[in-house]
Amino acid sequence: MPDVVIHNAKVYLEKGHFTEAVLVRGDRISAVGTNDEILLLAVDASKIDAHGNLLLPGFNDSHLHLYAFGRNVNRIRANGVTSIDELIERGRALIDRIKPPKGSVVAGTGWNQEMFTGEKRFPNRHDLDRISAEHAIIMSRVCGHSLSCNTLAMEMADITRNSRPAGGELMELDDNGEPLGIFGEGPLMYKIRALIPAFTQEQTEEQLLYAMRHALENGLCSIGSKDVAEDNYESMVKAYLDIFTKHDIHLRINMQCTISRDEVFNEFIRRGWITKCSMGHPYLTMGASKLFADGSLGARTAYMREPYADAPSMQGFRIHTQEELDALVLKHHKNGFQVIIHAIGDGAIDEVLCAFEKALAFENTNGGNKNELRHGIVHCQITDSALLKCMADNNILAFMQPVFLSHDLYMVEKRVGKKLAATSYAHATMQKLGIKTAYGTDCPIESMNPLECIDCAVNRRDFSNGYPEEGFYPGECVDVYTAVDAYTTGSAYAEFAENYKGRIKPGYLADFTLLDKDIFSIPKKEIHTAQVLWTMVGGNMAYQRNMPFASA
Ligand SMILES: [Zn+2]
Repeated sequence: MPDVVIHNAKVYLEKGHFTEAVLVRGDRISAVGTNDEILLLAVDASKIDAHGNLLLPGFNDSHLHLYAFGRNVNRIRANGVTSIDELIERGRALIDRIKPPKGSVVAGTGWNQEMFTGEKRFPNRHDLDRISAEHAIIMSRVCGHSLSCNTLAMEMADITRNSRPAGGELMELDDNGEPLGIFGEGPLMYKIRALIPAFTQEQTEEQLLYAMRHALENGLCSIGSKDVAEDNYESMVKAYLDIFTKHDIHLRINMQCTISRDEVFNEFIRRGWITKCSMGHPYLTMGASKLFADGSLGARTAYMREPYADAPSMQGFRIHTQEELDALVLKHHKNGFQVIIHAIGDGAIDEVLCAFEKALAFENTNGGNKNELRHGIVHCQITDSALLKCMADNNILAFMQPVFLSHDLYMVEKRVGKKLAATSYAHATMQKLGIKTAYGTDCPIESMNPLECIDCAVNRRDFSNGYPEEGFYPGECVDVYTAVDAYTTGSAYAEFAENYKGRIKPGYLADFTLLDKDIFSIPKKEIHTAQVLWTMVGGNMAYQRNMPFASA
């Protein structure tokens, strides 16, 4: 590969510091400087004129689900629907398009009753029967922690008025005591979800490849992707390796996985599959193990210390007891596995911090006990200052999705009251306390567009309509530098890569995102309108706008 010079750019180095040009040698940055300095060094290099546009270190989404995004192509995508009728229309359109056989399962995801403009209720089986009574329709809520299904799906799962939900599990009934097809986290929901058939390996790879290309279009060079579960790890690792072998695609994947069962966990350890290890291709590494402590705020399954302000009989749902959580965390910690834990409610965050504190008292295979394994909390939404301080004291990382605010700001105060809302989604406080923070989108929960996420961190508004004008608890707004850093060097830190990734600096990987707008100087409220012109990964042009990928 000949040397490459990117010149005539506004090159972001670090807070307040910019330059003009970069020399790339192989997959690394070899020099940065002014146009004159770099062009002098690069006599034989091929040259890329950036036309004055903003060159950032490649975006790195610290936590999303590439495969879940990809497989939604064959599912009902209800993200952004504003009524049950619209959801029904989308369902009918998908069935028209893919023509699934009668009696088969059609799954979907993405609805959020908080975004409905009329009645803000969960869709029930009668609604979903209107999509089709001849297919089993299973529609997960956007959070994945509750679902609605139609009558046929309930029949197939053998759920009747005599079914008994487990403690705390949601099963809504109508006035006659018949289940309405609405279920929350628990065995009945899992039974319905188990009806959704698995895809073939070929379909898996197609869907994953589609998602990876979409990521590059969004300027992402690196991704912490949680695709691996206990039942699919062979297939997911094979899918990635096959894709990298068969296709000219450049995207770095740090595999996050949920492997809490002992047999699977031990199998990973036996194979040497542990955080930071290479998975057989330079673009594929093993990341953290992801555990779950609770559900979501929208479905009121996030586990709270106090009952919900708008539903005093509800306090959310813990996935594990404290003892179980302690044991799971310790098992990972002792074996040198980084653990990141989904925790949204303050009750769940509290328990996760307790588990981390206990584990940090033990040495791990990496030696020390100052959180060298970079354990972290994913989402970490409902917090008070004591919880944040405890995170800082223990060096616990935060994997944040500021873009959640664009929807959540409409319900946070209702759910948890004003006092707690004021110290939640505490992006600025986290930064002040020195909590290591990595941004991401949790796509397909949200779109994987980093600019929308950065806009939300900076403005704390719903960027689609500018509400609220001054921002939601604007004291927690961060500056653009902080947001960009959390999306680059912050995410690199979360995957132990901060010494070679996440900055435009000699010796670092030649991963870049070129934007058509200078998000450091345009009006802040326009950040979400910036677009990716091209994405470079390891010196390879991985995506260029207006140059769609050749089909596979
Ligand atoms: Zn997630």
